[in-house]
Amino acid sequence: MSEAQKSATFLFHGELNDFLTPSRRNRPVRCLFRGRQTAKHLIESLGVPHPEVGSLRLGEKTLSLDTLVEDGDWIEVHPPPLPLPLPHLSLAASEEPIRFVLDNHLGRLAAYLRLFGFDALYRNDLQDDELAQISYTEERVLLTRDHRLLMRACVQQGYWLRSKLPRQQLVEVLRRWNLVPQVRPFRRCLRCNGLLQEVPKEQILSRLQPLTRLYYDDFRLCAGCGQIYWRGSHYERMQSWMGRVLQAAVITP
Ligand SMILES: [Zn+2]
Repeated sequence: MSEAQKSATFLFHGELNDFLTPSRRNRPVRCLFRGRQTAKHLIESLGVPHPEVGSLRLGEKTLSLDTLVEDGDWIEVHPPPLPLPLPHLSLAASEEPIRFVLDNHLGRLAAYLRLFGFDALYRNDLQDDELAQISYTEERVLLTRDHRLLMRACVQQGYWLRSKLPRQQLVEVLRRWNLVPQVRPFRRCLRCNGLLQEVPKEQILSRLQPLTRLYYDDFRLCAGCGQIYWRGSHYERMQSWMGRVLQAAVITP
């Protein structure tokens, strides 16, 4: 015997509407279901990944994502208030304010985050289940353009990038956690995410081009891949680009 059909109504607020088909935005959405279903399951069946949900309300009551939805419920779904607090990292002795793992299409954004000093794990060969698992075990915020990836059960912190443009994605991320005060430029390797260390010029002399050897004295070396960094002719251009990004990303109280 089949179970009776039930119905619940959801109203999504603010940026959660980005996940809905246009005809469902900013209006109550009716959802038909059978059996015992959690709010999380029904919300995701409508297209909204659980890491993007801030709070749920049924009348005066606050619900959790695991609440079982009853026939006739009318549930309001809110995004979290922004900026988000920095995640609490329980892994020992981390000096990082926040850590990210990025999906396979976000190489440029990963390099940009590293340029600003953030721990941004990126490889172009990780499968979706590996990305989700890394996000969980290493307490990394999963950044992606893929809704379905954020719906995986083990993903606790994640964000769907609204823009397709890497520079705009960077601004989104910096604003979402108010990261401008946490920016530490030239701290990480753009290639491998390793930390940079100051290195005496003599130690790397043989690896420098003649003009670099002549004109520059301060160098940093990546502890991960050995890449050498110095503030060369590209530096001023990069600094002014970074300045413009920070201006767009800063949150004035
Ligand atoms: Zn490196």
